[in-house]
Amino acid sequence: STHLGPSKGGIRYSMDVDMDEVKALAAWMSFKCAIANIPYGGAKGGVTCNPREMSVGELERLTRAYTRAMSDVFGVDKDIPAPDMNTGKKEMAWIVDEYAKIKGHLEPGVVTGKPITLGGSKGREEATGRGVMVATLAAIKKLGMDKKTCTAAVQGFGNVGSFAAKFASDRGARIVAVSDVSGGYFNGDGLNVPELMEYVKMHKSLKDYPKAQKISNEQLLELDCDALLPCALEGQIDTHNAEKIKCKLIVEGANGPVTNAATKILDKRGIFIAPDVIANGGGVIVSYFEWVQDIMSFFWDEADIDSKLKGIILKAFDTVYKFKEEKNVDMRLAAMSCSVQRLEKAMLLRGLYPR
Ligand code: NAD
Repeated sequence: STHLGPSKGGIRYSMDVDMDEVKALAAWMSFKCAIANIPYGGAKGGVTCNPREMSVGELERLTRAYTRAMSDVFGVDKDIPAPDMNTGKKEMAWIVDEYAKIKGHLEPGVVTGKPITLGGSKGREEATGRGVMVATLAAIKKLGMDKKTCTAAVQGFGNVGSFAAKFASDRGARIVAVSDVSGGYFNGDGLNVPELMEYVKMHKSLKDYPKAQKISNEQLLELDCDALLPCALEGQIDTHNAEKIKCKLIVEGANGPVTNAATKILDKRGIFIAPDVIANGGGVIVSYFEWVQDIMSFFWDEADIDSKLKGIILKAFDTVYKFKEEKNVDMRLAAMSCSVQRLEKAMLLRGLYPR
């Protein structure tokens, strides 16, 4: 959809990416931007390739060729790409440069997720994890729980999971377990998250982390804790384990970690879900801030960005929660409904005149 504004979404480099996946992810971005109420439509891009087998030179030539091929589609008020799977700051910098050559002048706002030197935003790296923390605290409050006595388990200790764990523990939550590809790590007294982050920096994974008991990823998901934050992969909680989940609330840091069928089971069991379209929207929200700053050529400090991010996520959360209460539906259905309503309203106001 481009009914609410220029289209926004990441570019992924992966052997699995194809047109259907890109279309589905673009639709997902349309819903995510609509629910956050930021003036964007949804988009996605992809190149079927294996970046792990490519040299830096090959990646640069591929990215520049992609930019040239897409230069009529991209545009600061048209389509604004960002990083996704296997792309990052480096690729965004090449896009800015190639696009500047085509346009004849620099337009940093044509992509987000850039290095700060080229017009990137402060706070972008930790934005998704920060948003997950904001959604977690909002859910804790709605459920009448106390963040100071709350225990949480985090699946996935990458960009989203590590920052979500850090910010939640900074605010008093006890992180009792984390996991990554090497498995799960449990400590009932609470894990030291900054120390875990340092450990991962040094060892590339949590493997052999000494101050915790080793558990499996399945055990982590089924832990008896207050909040479960799945921040790794899609489809982690499905009909096979939905009955075994013991937490009170799930905050979806990853995209689609709880299947629709599992959502119904969990909802019946009274387990609250903060859905991905709200909970992990922090990344695209700070991307929006980056674009605004580039257009203004005026850059904000981190405190400003954090408080604006918090405001947008809390507003989306409250709108969806209100809808859920009024219509007696689960949070996921409420989020989708609010988002579709916003898109429908824009479509009807603009008119359905054939283009
Ligand atoms: P990442 O690559 O930085 O981290 C992924 C983490 O998950 C790693 O710690 C990895 O070891 C772990 N992991 C992989 N397989 C696992 C398994 N089977 N069990 C447990 N842990 C496993 O990725 P990320 O950027 O943190 O993204 C995580 C999820 O969040 C993805 O679904 C992504 O699409 C979604 N997401 C990310 C952002 C963002 O800004 N990074 C924004 C929105 C959504």
